[in-house]
Amino acid sequence: MKLDRFLAKQSSMGRTAAHRLIAARRIRVDGVICTNNQEEVGRFTRIELDEEVLQQSQRVLYLMLHKPVGILSATTDPVHPTVIDLLDDPDKHTLHIAGRLDRNTSGLVLLTNDGRWSKRVTEPLELVPKVYLVETAEDIVPEAVSAFAAGFYFHTEDLTTLPAALEILAPRRARLTLHEGRYHQVKRMFHRVQNRVTALHRESIGGLHLPADLLPGQWRELTPQQVALF
Ligand code: URA
Repeated sequence: MKLDRFLAKQSSMGRTAAHRLIAARRIRVDGVICTNNQEEVGRFTRIELDEEVLQQSQRVLYLMLHKPVGILSATTDPVHPTVIDLLDDPDKHTLHIAGRLDRNTSGLVLLTNDGRWSKRVTEPLELVPKVYLVETAEDIVPEAVSAFAAGFYFHTEDLTTLPAALEILAPRRARLTLHEGRYHQVKRMFHRVQNRVTALHRESIGGLHLPADLLPGQWRELTPQQVALF
């Protein structure tokens, strides 16, 4: 939102009065006097009129969490515990999930209140690799590798999945790299090769790997370097 619009809305003063305050150098944006009516401001911007704080900047948060099996990738649920219930940050209710996992899937989940950042993580066009460890009910046939690479047509969404890299680690264990996150995608792909997923775990998203010392249910804030990966 533009600064003059923010001021007009916030204190119902009208756009002309807002322009006057800005021209009189009485408005600070993130601590600095701002004379540009059209300055972009948002939730993360601190805005002051003289000594009065009109808006505290909201803390921008980026977290990684090791989601255990049985916890919902949702912000609220009347019945089941959610990933938000695992957090104790005072601002946890401002967060959303950048790429959900099914309830019976474990592994790396990212949470943030920065919508632009989460879009870069989840947008299929960004081609961020997501790596999963998969265990299956039946032996994985070698032809699955080329089938996953070619993609599967999903009728419900009317799309063909992007090329996926399947590495068979053991007869019933594989590592799968996807560049998108369709509904139940891994399970539906294995179903197409007459198999069934019995356990699923997300190891990494882009250059961000679930650390070995982050145990199920634990979380931590991302470092600025990790945030900058996306
Ligand atoms: N694909 C699935 O089927 N489930 C997940 O949780 C993630 C990817």
